[in-house]
Amino acid sequence: MVEGALTSPVPQFTGARRRLVEELRAKGIASQSVLDAFERTARHAFVPSGMRHRAYEDSALLIGSGQTISQPFVHARSLELLALEGAERVLEIGTGSGYQTVLLSHLAREVYSVERIDDLIERAGDAVRTAGATNVHLRCGDGTLGWAEYAPYDAIVVSAGAPGIPQPLLDQLAEGGRLITPVGDRDEQRLVLVVRNGSTFDRTMLDPVRFVPLVGEHGWNG
Ligand code: SAH
Repeated sequence: MVEGALTSPVPQFTGARRRLVEELRAKGIASQSVLDAFERTARHAFVPSGMRHRAYEDSALLIGSGQTISQPFVHARSLELLALEGAERVLEIGTGSGYQTVLLSHLAREVYSVERIDDLIERAGDAVRTAGATNVHLRCGDGTLGWAEYAPYDAIVVSAGAPGIPQPLLDQLAEGGRLITPVGDRDEQRLVLVVRNGSTFDRTMLDPVRFVPLVGEHGWNG
């Protein structure tokens, strides 16, 4: 029964979720498929139980192990920039709670997601299963190395900030593929959109954001 309550959420959360979707629309998210993904994904199932009453606020929340579930608007903006049409193979770096992973599962064909913290990937795995997503593949490891086995990816989304864009991620981006990643210092970054055009990578600097650090071989040292 508890699991059922998470997959088909109880009424008060349905209302809260709808208000979040309207808030995202009012803040400028225009993609109907992205808004639909938010409508279909129970964010309260991805936050610690003591935080559930705040799950539909447009804010980042602590999820344990010193990490955060990102602000819904930042997820929405990143997903909109990826311009997914449903047939893509997507790589996500920094699974965290698994919330964005499930949003992606509604927008793409296959989702590959890498998280470096054991505890988080285990909990995310449970949440992803409870959400009923069957096109998600999770792995514990250093996401700055990408996930070469299933490359190339039509889209890559990085959920932690780094001083630069890890080269393995650029290498694993498909022709015409889109990559979105926060780049900057440890406390503040800008979202950067990269579009691959043959051997050229066109970069556009976008919104200022604050993500936790991307820790790994091609990121920060710890
Ligand atoms: N989109 C996630 C964001 C979680 S915060 C959510 O909303 O829940 C970013 C996550 O990136 C953290 O869980 C952190 O542990 C992870 N991370 C940091 N460096 C990483 C790396 N090199 N490889 C994989 N995951 C990493």
